Amino acid sequence: MWKLAYDFAASYAYRLPAARETFEYLDNNDPCAGPDTALDWWFKDLAGCCGRSANLWLHWVRLAIAVEWNRVVAVAARHGVTVTADRPPRPAANPPFVLLRGDVWSAGASGLWGDDRHLPLTDLDAPELAAYEAARALCACPLCPRLRPDPDVEAAMVARMSADDAWYLSRTERKSPQTLAAIVRAAPRIDPYGDAVAAVRRYARELPGAWETLMALAAEPGGGLAFDGLLNLVTDRPPADRAALEALIRERGAESADDLLWELSQL
Ligand SMILES: [Zn+2]
Repeated sequence: MWKLAYDFAASYAYRLPAARETFEYLDNNDPCAGPDTALDWWFKDLAGCCGRSANLWLHWVRLAIAVEWNRVVAVAARHGVTVTADRPPRPAANPPFVLLRGDVWSAGASGLWGDDRHLPLTDLDAPELAAYEAARALCACPLCPRLRPDPDVEAAMVARMSADDAWYLSRTERKSPQTLAAIVRAAPRIDPYGDAVAAVRRYARELPGAWETLMALAAEPGGGLAFDGLLNLVTDRPPADRAALEALIRERGAESADDLLWELSQL
């Protein structure tokens, strides 16, 4: 379970120089410690010098559990544990965080705190103060703006659309047909048989109206990954939709048509 939460945070933040200290903090803190019958994570502030890192990990673990809830339930089941709780809401960070001057800061009411640093509000220039005030309302840690996503961050991810971007976009809270279409169209360039397929399927499952969007995309040249999303949804659709998908595969499935029809016949 810890590996799931760690990988969730590390998939992007590990490469950020601003977050390096937060990952180094784990060298001196074993977060999985507790009796065999419970799963406890202890994030110590190490005598007061690592409060920012401790709080940031607490925030990221809560975020990972909320976003990856289906996987949390599956991992628990693999270890013989039945999860009876419902998926928790995505947590607001308390305190929230902000990236400034190449570092992640805890944005407290009276100023900014690093692990062994303090930045008083009176030291901030106008753009920094604006970033701090925005973060007080909506957490601006390395992960939250990608997972809401904030419009400017989403636009940058859609424009770049690496495998990493597709991974994050499939986990966002707010979804749109336009972003699903962007993932499908970029899929052949990313990795059509790995990350992109998983991203298309996950995104489509969480987007109301995804069926119609994917049917339109599958009819486009280069929209082949839309068929994977459709196959992932077809068992919940009425017979007429299944027939329409079969007809579209015959018409547009090209060299994959036989494989897609076989897959459909198994569902
Ligand atoms: Zn955050």
